Amino acid sequence: MAQQDTDQQHAGVLPVDDEGYIVDTEDCEEREQAWRERGTSRPITVVGNPVLHKECRDVTEFGAELAQLAADMFASQRTAEGVGLAANQIGVDLKVFVYDCQDDEGNRHVGVVCNPKLVELPAEKRLLDDNNEGCLSVPGAYAPLARPDYAEVTGQDVAGNAIKVRGTGYFARCLQHETDHLYGYLYIDRLSKRERKDVMRQMAENEPRYPVVAND
Ligand SMILES: [Zn+2]
Repeated sequence: MAQQDTDQQHAGVLPVDDEGYIVDTEDCEEREQAWRERGTSRPITVVGNPVLHKECRDVTEFGAELAQLAADMFASQRTAEGVGLAANQIGVDLKVFVYDCQDDEGNRHVGVVCNPKLVELPAEKRLLDDNNEGCLSVPGAYAPLARPDYAEVTGQDVAGNAIKVRGTGYFARCLQHETDHLYGYLYIDRLSKRERKDVMRQMAENEPRYPVVAND
């Protein structure tokens, strides 16, 4: 239905602040709910599934189908109690991620990014933070991973407008983690062999608490 399509696209277009970054901290409750209520929750792909280990395709069409994908991603993210989800985590080979994530100041961020690119930051901006990281596609496992505590991503919203997103702390980690996914990398690819082995052991020992796609 045309009306719904318009609403979906509208829901993904956020205001921009003085410096050109999207404002993703307002009406989070309502926006996240509106997205997920239009979506269908889907099972999560796990490490070893080929769709997670190759670069996804660029989004080139910004219509109702994309809005439906974003809605399904919000629904799936909620079911799995995630703070970020990339399209290949529900088996779709397209560069899109969604997030519902708090930064270290307690501000909640909700949004969608298509075709994200991490902005290279000058060394003085790269304060490393070595908190724990986990991934819905590596269920039941966590490992400390050093990442810059500030990140910026450029990309497009669901209507195709160019956007810039920035975040600190845990949200900065999320932006980097989700962008990595769309280029075929999991956080465990950034760990040492031994750390990775430990993560795989944790995963084997813990049953996923949400539906996953079994690997062949
Ligand atoms: Zn992940």
